Amino acid sequence: MRTPVIAGNWKMNMHKRQALELVQGLHYGLTWPGEVDVIVAPPFTALDTVVEFCAKSYISVAGQNMHWEESGAFTGEISPSFLKDAGADYILIGHSERRKYFGETNEIVNKKIKAAFQHNLIPIVCFGETLEERERGDFVRVIEQQILQGLTGLTHEEGSELIIAYEPVWAIGTGKTATPTQAEEAHAFIRAHLFQLFSPDVADAVRILYGGSVKPKNSRELLSQKNIDGALVGGAALKAEDFIGIIKSANA
Ligand code: PEP
Repeated sequence: MRTPVIAGNWKMNMHKRQALELVQGLHYGLTWPGEVDVIVAPPFTALDTVVEFCAKSYISVAGQNMHWEESGAFTGEISPSFLKDAGADYILIGHSERRKYFGETNEIVNKKIKAAFQHNLIPIVCFGETLEERERGDFVRVIEQQILQGLTGLTHEEGSELIIAYEPVWAIGTGKTATPTQAEEAHAFIRAHLFQLFSPDVADAVRILYGGSVKPKNSRELLSQKNIDGALVGGAALKAEDFIGIIKSANA
């Protein structure tokens, strides 16, 4: 039985004060989430504030991005050990916005995943196809490459600790959600590849989250699918009430 994960990606939003109010709203608005792992990914500047408050809460903290190197001449970058030092336990890797705007490739994603494991950060690795790729029937090839190149060289132990987020790019921030059937089909496909790449045990252990315009009104049906083990939430993670609604639906 896989414990569901509900993770909020705050992107480039939330000054410290707003960040504190948001985690306070989550913590006091839902005193216990049940059997659900709840994660928030604030911007770097609010990490300290959020980590300090979340130390007394059920909420865990993720970074939104990191470099794969340990330290050195990489102006503007943050290393895995800096994130660990700031109190993060998870890291988002390969979000489609990083791939689109910052040229992140599957090879870079792979380096980052390995660096994360070396520093005891659990990677939440994002995969997903663009609308153009889906429409020209390239969905299978694109996702397959993201999995094979992104996850190459990981041990079975690392494989089983991974969290994967399937995020069709056409559904992110657009209000267009994949139907539960479309999402379940993609999740089952990813799990089948984990089976081939690692083992049946790894395929069974990995939590695969769906991301793309998840809201309290659609989360229940998505999360009731066999291979959907949680959600990576953008817009609806910025309001405590909405995020709590999604957490509750994971517990239902
Ligand atoms: C995301 O950015 O990972 C995301 C899923 O955003 P939204 O929920 O706003 O579509």
